[in-house]
Amino acid sequence: MGRLAICPGTFDPITNGHIDIIMRSLRIFDEVIIAVATNPKKAALFDIDRRIYMIRESLRGLSGIKVESFDTLLVEYARQKRGIAIVRGLRAISDFEYELQMALMNRRLDSDIETVFMMPSEEYTFLSSTIIKEIASFGGSVKGLVPEVVEGALNELYNPEGV
Ligand code: ADP
Repeated sequence: MGRLAICPGTFDPITNGHIDIIMRSLRIFDEVIIAVATNPKKAALFDIDRRIYMIRESLRGLSGIKVESFDTLLVEYARQKRGIAIVRGLRAISDFEYELQMALMNRRLDSDIETVFMMPSEEYTFLSSTIIKEIASFGGSVKGLVPEVVEGALNELYNPEGV
């Protein structure tokens, strides 16, 4: 069996930063499952089906990728899928504290699953789903920062007249 990694997240919506990390994961692992958290604690702009649809559209034609939702403990989900690693992106020091806490807690819960951190290309280090939603909500352009399908969805939401 190939080496399988889980890339978990909210993906509300997927950005080119997420895609950067997914592509890097595919260089190391044979298969990558993009696990989209239903995350009832975070109010999402796009519902789970829309988030999954946009990820699938953005990664169409890539092999070794699966997109699924999950609503259980991440390590439990990873174990059930026979994943050997959880991949997370690290953008800046500000990500580090939370990510360290999560990684150590997940290790405590299941020491067989490693957390792997990857740095995106510099051009995406400032990028987050939150900032994308903020720019789009004020009518700013997010071209080149998100896949086309996401750009279209944000335009439809915030600029339906196309002005
Ligand atoms: P979560 O709510 O789990 O943080 P996100 O969708 O915000 O979900 O992020 C999922 C993963 O993608 C995280 O590991 C995050 O660090 C990573 N990520 C998000 N944006 C970027 C980016 N611009 N560059 C690198 N990694 C990123």
